[in-house]
Amino acid sequence: MSTTDLTGRVALVTGGARGLGAGAAEALAGAGARVMVADVLTEAGERTAARLEGAAFVELDVTDDARWAAAVAHTVQTLGRLDVVVNNAGIEVTQLIADAEPDAHRAMFDVNLLGTLLGTKHAFRAMRPGGAAGNGGTVINLASVAATIAFPAIAGYSATKSGVDRLTRVAAAESGKLGYGVRVNCLFPGLVATDMGMKLAVETAGLGLFTDPQDAVAQVVGLTPSGRLAEVSDIADAVVFLASDASRFVNGTGLAVDGGMGS
Ligand code: NAD
Repeated sequence: MSTTDLTGRVALVTGGARGLGAGAAEALAGAGARVMVADVLTEAGERTAARLEGAAFVELDVTDDARWAAAVAHTVQTLGRLDVVVNNAGIEVTQLIADAEPDAHRAMFDVNLLGTLLGTKHAFRAMRPGGAAGNGGTVINLASVAATIAFPAIAGYSATKSGVDRLTRVAAAESGKLGYGVRVNCLFPGLVATDMGMKLAVETAGLGLFTDPQDAVAQVVGLTPSGRLAEVSDIADAVVFLASDASRFVNGTGLAVDGGMGS
């Protein structure tokens, strides 16, 4: 059996309705896992789940502790277990520091940082010995190349992704120390042309940092040794790797999937 085979495993993917989350859900299902797609976007989330064999949808705002408890309980109840949590839900605010709006940043800090913390909390509580699932497992957090480079107009966003990086390492240390049997890792994806990725190109150009969105993309590609943007499948395959036994001794670290941009 391939060590990336996930037959019999159950994964919950936040922000799974579209973009990288939908790609991760599809790849996990392709590797044999049954997937709970979790998102605030009900219709899109249900559509994504309907495309995947053995998948289901649950409405989840990752900033809501009680909804997390309910979503994890629902997953264990309906899919029988829980082995993988992908904390992928995120939002991005493109603003110069000199113009930073507190409310927009608070909302982003809540989703990207608190959401990832709560996802890790509820994964631990379910997967650790005596938890509702109780078989150990893996947590995969979506950081970003923004945590490893300095790109203008995303100071707050980059700070959240650096926070996700650090949170990941502390979580792995706690899990190890307390015998939870849960590995915790994060990914540093390069720019992907999802809704979020293209918004960034448009908005940084709008701020006058690039001549137009195409120029923004070209500059990113120019900083990337592999010579292209990342694709959804590049990131999704890395999620499957970190979810699977192929990464069984990979713990408390971050994997750059950025074509070399952040190195
Ligand atoms: P996207 O905007 O296309 O999709 C994000 C998904 O998260 C959406 O389905 C949205 O509804 C969901 N979401 C937002 N707030 C939520 C909440 N409170 N609760 C539950 N779901 C919520 O973004 P994407 O490009 O697919 O990005 C996914 C993740 O990857 C994010 O964490 C992002 O920061 C990270 N990332 C993206 C890129 C990129 O270039 N696209 C690069 C590096 C990292």
